[in-house]
Amino acid sequence: MVIFSGIQPTGRKHLGNYIGAIIQYVGGQDRADPAIYCIVDLHALTVPYDPSELRERTYDTAAILIAAGLDPDRCILFRQGDVQEHTELTWLLSSVIPLGELNRMHQFRDKSAAQREMVTSGLLFYPVLMSADVLAYRAHEVPVGEDQREHLEVMRRAAERFNKRFGELLVVPEARIPEVGARVADLQEPERKMSTTGGSEQGTVYVLDEPDAIRRKFKRAVADSGREVVRAADKPGISNLIEIMAVARGIAPEEIEHEFESSGYGDFKAAVAESVVEWLSPVRERYDELRGDDARLEGILEAGAEKARAIASLTLADVRAAMGVGPVGRSVGPAA
Ligand code: ATP
Ligand code: MG
Repeated sequence: MVIFSGIQPTGRKHLGNYIGAIIQYVGGQDRADPAIYCIVDLHALTVPYDPSELRERTYDTAAILIAAGLDPDRCILFRQGDVQEHTELTWLLSSVIPLGELNRMHQFRDKSAAQREMVTSGLLFYPVLMSADVLAYRAHEVPVGEDQREHLEVMRRAAERFNKRFGELLVVPEARIPEVGARVADLQEPERKMSTTGGSEQGTVYVLDEPDAIRRKFKRAVADSGREVVRAADKPGISNLIEIMAVARGIAPEEIEHEFESSGYGDFKAAVAESVVEWLSPVRERYDELRGDDARLEGILEAGAEKARAIASLTLADVRAAMGVGPVGRSVGPAA
């Protein structure tokens, strides 16, 4: 079983990324062979960015992932831009992905509406590149947050259309979306997902936040009307806090509701903050140890890219041959 997922090196990674994606990556190492994780620098070019910062943010992200428990000996960790098969497959897949589907994507609509500068065609093409990321490894499972469900559907249809038209070469992947914490909400605007690009600063808890910043953000978290600590459709703020605490402590949300039955919101929020501080502090400490050594991080990413290329080039050779690209009987990959 092959697992693949990607994470952007934009900004600082937050609790939504940590709960929705990163801890699933760590668990995936024990279930997959191989588990492949990619820092998607090419995806990060789709919104305004600073070229001089992109490499640094990639190292930040690599260090966070390793601090969280990714082990380069038990998974393949690499940088997307180092493996050119991703961009080639993007173009090849564009012939089986309808424009209408891309236009309908919520991420495209939301991000282009929020854009004050030019809306790039890369933003529209984001799901095509993402399809290429996963399909190049013939991955079976893709751990992601709820917000990526739609893109996974595009990817699945792309694989099905490709297989129907050119032969059964690609694996149709399944999304793996966690039951609790699939959509961690912004603490200030609980109707919105916690987000790198769209959220509020006070409502976004970063994995690397100092304990006092974490405590302050939870203290100011928007609570709902009423006073019970229970999950309910009309209590998005408290429901979010219950889920966060459940994941941080590794127990079921029901247990949290039971434990805080007779507590007020103030005490509950303080307790959530302490759980998160305790949970994230070791990650921050390991990150501090790792982040100083660019050469080591670069070495890990390079070694990962080599392993990734060995897999993706085989898929690309098959795809090119099936699509009639290049001379007959000669595939360009090492499969030849
Ligand atoms: P942006 O808002 O710019 O898209 P992001 O915060 O979504 O950035 P990504 O790198 O795009 O960060 O996402 C990495 C992973 O984190 C994806 O699998 C995504 O589904 C997941 N994720 C992002 N936000 C949340 C959230 N609020 N709750 C749960 N999972 C999330
Ligand atoms: Mg995202």
